[in-house]
Amino acid sequence: MSTPDEHELVAMVPGVPYGDGIVDGGSQETDAVGGRPPRHQAALHLSSVLPALSSAIGHPIPTRVHDDPAGLRSALGLPEVRSAIVVLVDGLGFWNLVSRAGHARYLRSLLNDSANQRPLSTCVPSTTVAAMGVFGTGTCPGLTGMTGYTQRNTDNGRICQLIQFRDAPDPLDLQRVPTVFEGLADEGVRVTSCGMPRFEHSALTRAALRGADYRCGTTAHDRLSAACESARTPGLTYVYIRDVDKTGHAQGWESRDWAATVERVDSQIAYLRRCAPAGTLLVIVADHGMVSAREEDRIDMASRPRLDEGVAMMGGEPRAPMLYLHEDADPADVIGRWKAELGDRIEMMTREQAISRGLYGPVDPRVAPMIGDVVAWSCGHTTIVDSREQTDLATRLPGVHGSRTMIETDVPCLIDVVPRRSR
Ligand SMILES: [Zn+2]
Repeated sequence: MSTPDEHELVAMVPGVPYGDGIVDGGSQETDAVGGRPPRHQAALHLSSVLPALSSAIGHPIPTRVHDDPAGLRSALGLPEVRSAIVVLVDGLGFWNLVSRAGHARYLRSLLNDSANQRPLSTCVPSTTVAAMGVFGTGTCPGLTGMTGYTQRNTDNGRICQLIQFRDAPDPLDLQRVPTVFEGLADEGVRVTSCGMPRFEHSALTRAALRGADYRCGTTAHDRLSAACESARTPGLTYVYIRDVDKTGHAQGWESRDWAATVERVDSQIAYLRRCAPAGTLLVIVADHGMVSAREEDRIDMASRPRLDEGVAMMGGEPRAPMLYLHEDADPADVIGRWKAELGDRIEMMTREQAISRGLYGPVDPRVAPMIGDVVAWSCGHTTIVDSREQTDLATRLPGVHGSRTMIETDVPCLIDVVPRRSR
């Protein structure tokens, strides 16, 4: 497999349109680039994974953006099975993984299979809350109302944070789209989620992943064992692994610690292959990738007063700021000032432009005002921070994500079936 060069990895990629298409994704660039599989095919998106899996286990659950789960199943190359385990590794981008494949013995063996060499695209922005909503509902941020790490709470006009739902609406009120887990459970299908006790009733779980029977495990081994056990009954099992993202933020994805974390997570997933019942389908995905931030590319709003003009609040995150403007401010003027100050370090558009380009998928009128009046995407290794409001640590994270570059957008979808054991 040819790997893009450093420059290409941090260049913006056009978003994949939401839908079921496999050949005609509605984009001009459907041809393979550099010998790599084509992108811009609507089916090859994180939102397709659970609808495709629902079809794979014989209980197709269509969603508001995917009405053909069987088509998605074949587009992703999933076999028909009785039982499946989907593992979501937070922050394990496709190209991050490929670059450190030497530390991932099991996942590397899957990457050697050409069927696993096509990345999926995550949503815009490439961040956990948005991607979890997209994954869990099989839809898009424009419908889930989960449009960024932080966003405007339309109940009170202030900024809320959607990892812990700090100052946020009730998760069931914000995210009203039924989840695929709920759809399966309604059909009487077993759905099991194996996670840490603290996430069982977390707001994010209730918003994006409700409907599963939750099995708590204090250690990774407990959770993986519970997953193997659950897979004996037909149905779907979900396992979430958080460490790769955590280490990536703290140490950067190019650090030794990150590689060591990938090595550990790889052996955890390999355990599933050893211990799950023969015939179980394993699918390994991620919510987003990660890019290295650089000190020289850090833009601090505190030292650039011109960037404040017209801006009432900033939401989003360092790679995907969302600007909420004062009522009398003109978005075009704000964009003009930011572009004059930051040039090609940032790509900007008005909310209306972003929506009409389909970046958020179909947008519910209820959700539109949650998105910034102006949305921006950091280019290259740039981060946009505000030392007046964020801790020093938060403004200097060596690993970040949220923007629309290839390294942040492309996520793996690795497929395996547990073999029969020879005795
Ligand atoms: Zn993260």
